[in-house]
Amino acid sequence: MIKYLGVEKWGLWKSLCPPLVVAGPCSAETEEQVYGTAAALKAAGIGVFRAGLWKPRTHPASFEGVGERGLPWLVRVQRELGMRVATEVANAHHVEQALHAGLDLLWLGARTTANPFAVQEIADALQGTDIPVLVKNPVNPDLELWLGALERLERAGICRIGAVHRGFSAYGEMKYRNLPQWQLPIEIRRRCPDMPVLCDPSHLAGRREYVREIAQQAMDLGFDGLMVESHVCPEQALSDAAQQLTPAALGEMLAGLVVRQEDTENPVYKANIDELRSRIDAIDNELVDLLGLRMEISAQIGEYKKQNNITILQTGRWEKVLERVLARGAEKGLDAGFLERIFTAIHRASIDRQSNVMQDGESQGENV
Ligand code: PEP
Ligand code: MN
Repeated sequence: MIKYLGVEKWGLWKSLCPPLVVAGPCSAETEEQVYGTAAALKAAGIGVFRAGLWKPRTHPASFEGVGERGLPWLVRVQRELGMRVATEVANAHHVEQALHAGLDLLWLGARTTANPFAVQEIADALQGTDIPVLVKNPVNPDLELWLGALERLERAGICRIGAVHRGFSAYGEMKYRNLPQWQLPIEIRRRCPDMPVLCDPSHLAGRREYVREIAQQAMDLGFDGLMVESHVCPEQALSDAAQQLTPAALGEMLAGLVVRQEDTENPVYKANIDELRSRIDAIDNELVDLLGLRMEISAQIGEYKKQNNITILQTGRWEKVLERVLARGAEKGLDAGFLERIFTAIHRASIDRQSNVMQDGESQGENV
């Protein structure tokens, strides 16, 4: 079950755990919808309730949230159901209202993270408080922008900060509403190993039938938790109707998730994994040695071309190399795109090496 997931990583966040699932409607719409959803989520084992009060929407005619009118509804969930409550803030006024109402957790939406002025304004308004803040990735896949927003909050003295992967905007037909680019949150995890990294499968998916597979992928990758949209009556939701789950469906989904551990003390597993890893290490060494050898031969070719006054590139040679490599790779079940990327990089390095060989001595020649 999700509640055992990475709890130690949360450090100061422990007060929010377990479970590490933040769930609730995209938007707070009415007091009944908020309270009804929260009560059903609590029954499904959820401890942290989310609801958007101020909604950043693409079109001005869309429902833009109930604003501060909904704050007492969240306070009621907190008081009567004992749940932690969270909302999205996009400017200093939102922060002041949320802090004044005593909410437990705030998050920055994808459109806000993309705007350093807005993030700084929020960070300034948060100065001197210790409320936990989650930062969704910016709409565009810009790792530094995401890290920059986290850093602004950190500099404001907020020490309970988490990142949320909700996918990236892309143009054109796609299976999911937003493109998952898992390498970005994985890089965040590498650079900030103590910071919780959550996944928002709802905004990634865009459709409720895909939420489960994305949530499972997040578990497979060792994410620390999930932020999931849930509504008592998803079809009637005023925003993001297609991606919200009923609290019962959410409970069922969470119960079915396979949560993987980062490590185990099982000696059989350890022995086998160590053996496999030493084979991988040996192969990596061989790959590097072979690349060194290939580069040496490439330099010799460069020298030979120079002596014979031949250009570095010959029409058709690179296509032939690639064709041969891809055919051999296909026999080994290797992905063509993957091989092409690797060999393009090798080819470029090889051209650079030959260019150096060609130029070497020419400039010396000029000096003589
Ligand atoms: C939301 O959580 O409802 C929301 C607006 O998300 P995002 O910022 O990821 O689009
Ligand atoms: Mn939403």
